[in-house]
Amino acid sequence: MLTENLQEVEQKIQNACKKSNRAREEITLIAVSKTKPVSMLQEVYHLGCRDFGENKVQELSEKHPQMPDDIRWHLIGHLQTNKVKQVIDKATLIHSVDSVHLATVIEKEAAKKDITVDILIEVNIAEEESKFGFKEEEVLSAVETIATFSHVRIKGLMTIAPFVENPEENRSVFARLQKLSVDIRSKNIDNVSVDILSMGMTNDYQVAIEEGATMIRVGTGIFGAREYHI
Ligand SMILES: *Cc1c(COP(=O)(O)O)cnc(C)c1O
Repeated sequence: MLTENLQEVEQKIQNACKKSNRAREEITLIAVSKTKPVSMLQEVYHLGCRDFGENKVQELSEKHPQMPDDIRWHLIGHLQTNKVKQVIDKATLIHSVDSVHLATVIEKEAAKKDITVDILIEVNIAEEESKFGFKEEEVLSAVETIATFSHVRIKGLMTIAPFVENPEENRSVFARLQKLSVDIRSKNIDNVSVDILSMGMTNDYQVAIEEGATMIRVGTGIFGAREYHI
């Protein structure tokens, strides 16, 4: 099942790339493995995936030592400040930095460990009450503040688009995140790069690729439906 699923996702990525004149290499597929057993992650690893996404620190920490070292772990869920210490030396990229306070705590803990932590700024483009993330108009000033931290490096932006029946409904959400990344890039802020755009999930990753995604986060499309929702 996983082989066929992955082939189908790969085909759809390539179709979206062709449609939007992009190179396949510009897009990183993150296999979102939350709630799935390590045995399934191992299978997907052997099929070639090296990027895995988890939304909980505890689950990422448990799976991390059971999987090969060359995996890039992506933390994609809301991060509580009291869990920062535990995850910053395991996650390759934290997609879900949703407040300056959280970035401040990451800076402090990273300094203690003498490491630099790569992060994305989460933007709640659709301003959904239920979602974390900065409002669009708050992003620039947050980026300017976080840019002064020496153990945190901003690499780009992330958004979780609304759940919609028709993925076309999210096209404008993705286009707005892309435009925001261009605006921020044009400011040439020291210590900040905005090359990564993490957007698009199982339902809408093709549209996200057409609108400029460089990382897509696909769970259900690879692993099948989750038994329970987190
Ligand atoms: C669960 C999750 C995904 C993957 O969702 P699917 O619809 O199963 O592809 C992507 N991003 C985040 C932040 C998630 O929590």
